[in-house]
Amino acid sequence: MDYIKASDAILQRIQAMNKRAEDLQKAGLYFYNQPVTELRGGARVLVNGREMGMFASYSYLGLIGHPKINAAAKAAIDRYSTGTHGVRTLAGTLAIHRELEETIAAFKHAEAAITFSSGYATNLSVIASLLGRGDYVISDKLNHASIVDGCLMSGAKFLRFRHNDMESLEARLEQVPDDAARLVVADAVFSMDGDIIDFPRMVEICRKHHAWLMIDEAHSVGVLGQTGRGIEEHFGMMDAIDIKMGTLSKTIPSVGGYIAGRKDLINYLRHSTRAYIFSAALPPAQAAAAKAAFEVILEEPWRVEKLRANSHQFIQGLKQQGFDTLYTETAIVPVLCGEDEVAYRMTREAQLRDVFVLPVVSPAVPPGLSRLRATVTAAHEPEEIQHALDVIGEAGRKIGVI
Ligand SMILES: *Cc1c(COP(=O)(O)O)cnc(C)c1O
Repeated sequence: MDYIKASDAILQRIQAMNKRAEDLQKAGLYFYNQPVTELRGGARVLVNGREMGMFASYSYLGLIGHPKINAAAKAAIDRYSTGTHGVRTLAGTLAIHRELEETIAAFKHAEAAITFSSGYATNLSVIASLLGRGDYVISDKLNHASIVDGCLMSGAKFLRFRHNDMESLEARLEQVPDDAARLVVADAVFSMDGDIIDFPRMVEICRKHHAWLMIDEAHSVGVLGQTGRGIEEHFGMMDAIDIKMGTLSKTIPSVGGYIAGRKDLINYLRHSTRAYIFSAALPPAQAAAAKAAFEVILEEPWRVEKLRANSHQFIQGLKQQGFDTLYTETAIVPVLCGEDEVAYRMTREAQLRDVFVLPVVSPAVPPGLSRLRATVTAAHEPEEIQHALDVIGEAGRKIGVI
């Protein structure tokens, strides 16, 4: 590697990042990339030889390990094996992909659906395939990185509005030239803060300004709405989103992403989205698991109800102890700590007492708003949640967060 000069900017970037991680490791404050070695039921895991309560999972309805879903994945391996013959457009499409897409379309109350091999790739590639130079995309400031990257990649004019501020959204739309195509995009539930987008007002503004509306439901499927169908059900507005995006890696315990919407939109995406045309099809076991999971959500509605009760218990318990949890109303619960170091120390205290939470620091969140980003699921029992509240509360008092 001696052809790389010590002054090389790439090398410096690598070394700076590695030093940040190494310094934290030396101080015993590095908690990322730890392997789980065993699952112990729905909400407990083995990490570093310790059994911990899992409070950092995206498996909101506790579907990881569900017998029907595991059985569907195993049956798909027996029927189709482990891989596909390539990309969907060519030889990679299996009957199970079509069945999954029909299931998603029905679940999301849409004419059709298309799946991709990751949620990240879905946002990136779909936004880039719908928009180009001369178009406008208007995005919430706290939207997920995959949306931001898709907006940048599209080459469209990229405007951002203040987080969940509908006056700011409208002001942005007023900047768009009359004849320009415009897409408004937002998370339904924000991935770092857990708050819900002001959907009714957003829909109204988009209609008034003739903008397409794309909503990312990564953290709202299974979480919002009486039967877990997401934000449209939550607000009783079933057909208000033009481009319904979601992931198969959170409430749905698989991997992949989807778009549901009108037939002509989905057909267009099948013939123009590069992540679909140039990246391998979902493995059959993952497609079958995803399909079974959508069915389980509807068959076991108690899970949605229990998640709601658990989230309420956890958020109220933190607030009563004096923690700042921002505006969360969902299963994602930020526990504000302030500086990065404080979030790391809070994490260590919690993990030492077998509560698996993780810190989120800048640049993922603004400086000074570092936090524990805890999650609750339908797999938790009230006693486990109370234990986590006790542990986080004691840590907060010891470290001076509360
Ligand atoms: C996780 C997430 C994604 C990406 O989904 P993956 O399937 O994990 O690639 C997209 N959007 C949001 C809001 C997310 O939280």
